[in-house]
Amino acid sequence: MSDGNGKHGGYPDLAAVRGDDDVIQPFMLERTGVRGRLVRAGPMVDAILTRHAYPAPVAQLLGEALALAGLMSGMMKYDGLFTLQMVGDGPVKMLVADFSSDGAVRGYADFDAERVAALNLDDSAPNAEVIKLLGQGRLAYTVDHQGAKDRYQGIVELNGATLAECMHHYFQQSEQVVSSIQLTCGRLTEGDGTQRWRAGGLMLQRLPGEAGERTVEDPDEDWRRSVILMSSVTQTEMVRPDLTAHELLFRLFHEEGVRVYDTWPLKDQCRCSRERVETVLMQMDRDELGEMKTEDGVVEVTCQYCSTVYRFDDAQLNALHDTDGDSDHGQSGTA
Ligand SMILES: [Zn+2]
Repeated sequence: MSDGNGKHGGYPDLAAVRGDDDVIQPFMLERTGVRGRLVRAGPMVDAILTRHAYPAPVAQLLGEALALAGLMSGMMKYDGLFTLQMVGDGPVKMLVADFSSDGAVRGYADFDAERVAALNLDDSAPNAEVIKLLGQGRLAYTVDHQGAKDRYQGIVELNGATLAECMHHYFQQSEQVVSSIQLTCGRLTEGDGTQRWRAGGLMLQRLPGEAGERTVEDPDEDWRRSVILMSSVTQTEMVRPDLTAHELLFRLFHEEGVRVYDTWPLKDQCRCSRERVETVLMQMDRDELGEMKTEDGVVEVTCQYCSTVYRFDDAQLNALHDTDGDSDHGQSGTA
């Protein structure tokens, strides 16, 4: 990882990170009314990416997708779930990042390790090469509001060199709020030589009808200036843990005046549970379950997100199907 001056990341005081890591920091530029969100992801993204020991280019792409989900989750107007999914015909077949409004984040990638290795990608570059990794593909996102029947969806064709470029093409074509984003994911080396993944995201949005404190003569010029200021951020600034969110925003936008709002915490937390797995198994017939059995005669279901293994022996499987035939009573024991 380079900051453009040939310096490589190495922050011996990683352990002394101040309290604004793994957060979304919303902000507003006071001079122009431009809104923004900053995502700073450290231990959360490192846990998700190292759990599966992804090849570095795949981990980098998933890290950027997690940061993007954090930025776009601002579309949730109340409690719910934001899901981002990429599919393609390249070495990475599918990639999912989801984000619930209580800050729980999870993600995984399905890929062909040999095809990824054959790409020989430079994993110290600031951004993942989305087209090489996913091939012909697209990104779909969904907003599911809790208790609401309708869901909001968008589909983005992947036709940029980086994930951020793909999103820019989408923002230009769609009727979305005018937006600009920066994404990055990379590894920093701790004092003891351990490498840790970190990811960052920065988004500006120009909301219709919102002006800042000054009378704005040329809103287009104001917007362009804000985007240029944002674009001056380096990969290192985006991910270094010893620069706080406030310090980074001030460094970039102090001429515009930055107002910060309450942060949202981000945590590595899966939504799987034994009860959810039971629900799936109850819908399968006994023959299907029989085919799933291991040599030990148990059914094992592994969560593709967090790798938790749920095991069911014959007695437990029988109980599930008894429950199935006696549905009202069977539900009482589950959380
Ligand atoms: Zn899980």
